[in-house]
Amino acid sequence: MKTWLITGCSSGFGQRLARAAVQRGDQVIATARNVKTIEELVAPFGGRMLALPLDVTDAAAAKAAVEKAVETFGGFDVLVNNAGYGLFGAIEEGTAEEYRPMFEVNVFGLIETTKAALPILRRSGGTIVNMSSGAGIAGSGGAGYYNAAKFAVEGISEALAGELKPFGIRVLIIEPGPFRTDFLGRSITIAANEMPEYAASSRKHYRETNNGHQAGDPDKAIAVILRAVDADDAPLHLPVGPAAHSIAERKLASFRRDIDAWRDITIATDFDQP
Ligand code: NAP
Repeated sequence: MKTWLITGCSSGFGQRLARAAVQRGDQVIATARNVKTIEELVAPFGGRMLALPLDVTDAAAAKAAVEKAVETFGGFDVLVNNAGYGLFGAIEEGTAEEYRPMFEVNVFGLIETTKAALPILRRSGGTIVNMSSGAGIAGSGGAGYYNAAKFAVEGISEALAGELKPFGIRVLIIEPGPFRTDFLGRSITIAANEMPEYAASSRKHYRETNNGHQAGDPDKAIAVILRAVDADDAPLHLPVGPAAHSIAERKLASFRRDIDAWRDITIATDFDQP
């Protein structure tokens, strides 16, 4: 039996994962910034699911949630940094008031929650599941700020994977393509300053036409996460869904082309040998 601490359980992946984990017999500390939003989720599961308030931008709240988790279940062995939202818009369109709060949640919130959890995980060993995105694999016009935040999640996760191996802690980076959660509905902000010059890369139409029609079934993504957490041989990077796989394949091919194309020029930079 595993004990999970999951952020962002009010809807989408977080809520479904919390429910699926407890339904198969695990214990779950489900967190949300407004704990009322998870009362219904927790109610059927008695003492095996604990609801706690956690706005991931509040580092003290992350520490308090970890303390309460230890008090209730003696610790936990899976941390899922799931809370997050997106910001669409060209780089020139976005403002600091729009992109800084998004980094606070997706990047700094993930860091502080992880730091709060590490003293416990270093004792027990376990798994950190970080929710990245296909947007964390390759950048694309109109999503640059969200790309940057998820690229940060990738870099932090790759570094943690090496750093935490000696403590028996694994890291899994989940990179979903489009899945039918509340993400395109309420978890995407669009830069307010829309410039006609960037109409070609605008994601507004994409959001409007795809919300509720995403091909990805979130319960199937959750099944992949459960399987990866249980498996000894799950890889660090998990592009989930065919769209994310295509992004990864295209990224690998174009990266390969780039590093090969100018290889002779770019490697000729060491000091000349005497
Ligand atoms: P969702 O249904 O909209 O859920 C987003 C969750 O994040 C909500 O529970 C929300 O809580 C929570 N959240 C936002 N800010 C928070 C904060 N400051 N503190 C704590 N929780 C906060 O969307 P989702 O698809 O499940 O998103 C979950 C993760 O998957 C995100 O990291 C997202 O980037 C990633 N992802 C999603 C997709 C997709 O297509 N669905 C694809 C790639 C990656 P509130 O109710 O309080 O707002």
